[in-house]
Amino acid sequence: MTRSAGVESRRDYPTGEDSLRERRRLHVSPTVFGMVRIDGDLDPDTGETVLTALRSCVDADFRSADQQDRRSPGQRRADALGEICRRWLDSSDRPQVGGERPHVTVTVGLEALRGRGEPAEFDYLGPIGHEAARTWACDASVSRVVLGPRSEPLDVGRTPVVLAPMRRAVVVRDRECRFPGCDRPPPWCDAHHVVHWADGGPTALSNLVLLCRRHHRLVHQGFTVEMTDGRPVFRRPDGSILQDRAPP
Ligand SMILES: [Zn+2]
Ligand SMILES: [Zn+2]
Repeated sequence: MTRSAGVESRRDYPTGEDSLRERRRLHVSPTVFGMVRIDGDLDPDTGETVLTALRSCVDADFRSADQQDRRSPGQRRADALGEICRRWLDSSDRPQVGGERPHVTVTVGLEALRGRGEPAEFDYLGPIGHEAARTWACDASVSRVVLGPRSEPLDVGRTPVVLAPMRRAVVVRDRECRFPGCDRPPPWCDAHHVVHWADGGPTALSNLVLLCRRHHRLVHQGFTVEMTDGRPVFRRPDGSILQDRAPP
């Protein structure tokens, strides 16, 4: 078959990289209850990049998964996309927008951080639950906004809750996610306050434990962790203890 005949037989399809690229589009839109819908068509270069990043993230996640991980492939891909975006937001060499690096912003009153009062709010998606706000605040940079006499906000600057040297100390001690059966490495992890700082818990080694994002969410939603003799003890929502592995 000649080259021209080959092209002829596919004339209903766009040919050439430029026309394929012309078809690219991505729609990301909030729906209901704070959910977000993603829909689009990616050109081959971008599509291959996305597939490669998603697959490597899902594979790394899967290798570290514990036996109680019952997520579907679709749920794993959704989590991987969140992880990839979060790493981008966490990287230090990103361009600044409006004088600072973009970050996920949760606006929350101190009462809400203690599990009471007005709900917290995401900048884009609106209200989120108290416990979700506490999870975000556990290991975040916090801007304390003090209201002036005419309720004008006076921003007093942004400070990380867990300073870099303390985080390094937690990483040196824990090495990976401490949830039983999980070995996700530090880049996947947050430093969780066993007693939340909003409840008076200190940001000290004795009150911090390294948890991957998935297990961090779990210990804010039903599972619990407490420090016993300097080691974290995890309990299921029914109060039974999860068997820990050997201490690191
Ligand atoms: Zn936490
Ligand atoms: Zn974990």
